[in-house]
Amino acid sequence: MEWGHRGRLAICAAALAAGMLTFSLHADTGATAATSATRAATAQEQSAPQPAYTLPPGPLAQAISLSRIRNLLDIAGAVWGVVFLWLLLATRGCAGLEGWARRLVKHRWQQGVLFFAALLIATTLAGLPFDWLGQHYERAYGVSVQSWSGWLGDQAKSLGLGLLMGVPVLLLFNGAVQRWPRRYWLGVWLLTLPLLALSVFVEPLLVPLFYKQEPLALHHAALTAKLETVVAHTGIAIPPDRIFLIHASAKSRGINAFVAGIGTTKRFVLWDTATDQLPDDETLFIFGHESGHYVLRHIPKMLAGSAIGLFFLYWGCAVFAAWLAGRFGARWGADGLASRTGFVVLLFVVSLASLLTAPVSNAFSRHFEHQADVYGQEAIHGLVADPQRTAVAAFNHLGASWLEDPNPNPFLEFWLFNHPSVEHRAEFAAHYNPWTNGGHGEFFKK
Ligand SMILES: [Zn+2]
Repeated sequence: MEWGHRGRLAICAAALAAGMLTFSLHADTGATAATSATRAATAQEQSAPQPAYTLPPGPLAQAISLSRIRNLLDIAGAVWGVVFLWLLLATRGCAGLEGWARRLVKHRWQQGVLFFAALLIATTLAGLPFDWLGQHYERAYGVSVQSWSGWLGDQAKSLGLGLLMGVPVLLLFNGAVQRWPRRYWLGVWLLTLPLLALSVFVEPLLVPLFYKQEPLALHHAALTAKLETVVAHTGIAIPPDRIFLIHASAKSRGINAFVAGIGTTKRFVLWDTATDQLPDDETLFIFGHESGHYVLRHIPKMLAGSAIGLFFLYWGCAVFAAWLAGRFGARWGADGLASRTGFVVLLFVVSLASLLTAPVSNAFSRHFEHQADVYGQEAIHGLVADPQRTAVAAFNHLGASWLEDPNPNPFLEFWLFNHPSVEHRAEFAAHYNPWTNGGHGEFFKK
């Protein structure tokens, strides 16, 4: 539940590496799309009304080409992830790995640890060129300011976490397939539910592995006091010690903030790029947006939604995987779905299904983000001079800091974006004024 698009933490990769925790509350792929500079230019020449999100010519050209690169890498990387699993099966690489683990150690669980650790390392290495290229371009365009050694260190930590969390989860799921050969997908689904909740609970606790984190009040006492006026307005309980600042400016120029966690780990986190670059009013708006995620219970709703979605996804995957194993199992050296190699057939099917159903989860996410935008604007009504102007300015700062394309391709927005495009968000904010003629907002009735 982020405010901006790209604040992906490396943890997401680790959570995804955990195999079936395919639904990340946090991941981005919020790539913007490529559209031609000429189209934007023509629109302006035709004296169309001034768009709500604009960039000067230099950054505009950069934003358009960087967005094109991000989209290409996002799509190619996601497809390659699925193709790589297929190749591991088709070349009998998986079967070879299973045999190797069996020869090396005696106990079945030790063989499983070896097999799944090797699998996670192989898939991570296979995806590394895409991550590397992404980082190369983010640095070249000045969005990322992280050193290569720092970046490699993050990749290593991420892989370490992936192994630590992923191997036990994959062993557990593989065990479920062996235990309940017919209805395993139901067992795996039941096991997924507490694991999903646990991953949301644990995620914020891992942030300090990647960023220096401190209470916001330590550096910005006056701002924290102002944020508490928004808290008073919304009526929710976010005490100052649950409001954190992370020193992200050592790695990125992008502005971001997020809410994360459930229960005792629930918190609001602001990147220092926001406190450095934004006037306080705009930070109040961001805080209002994030408070909206709390008040409107978006995290529990996303959890419930993914539980329902995964039920059907697993069921469909089980049907398809059974067919696939029957058709290709002998050729791939997969002795039934309960074997280690057979389990990779399941992983392949689940990753293919997640790739194809991404637009569904993204549509839900965009809806929640839009609701939070509305909530944020209403939350600061009466606290700042002009909520519309404040929100539009905040979106312009957000877009410029990440070099977001003001004119993304609508199909790519539909398929890839988990937030509405910055242009759509700014455009809505510019026209959202329910208070004229004595009216009131959707969430605040006065
Ligand atoms: Zn949000």
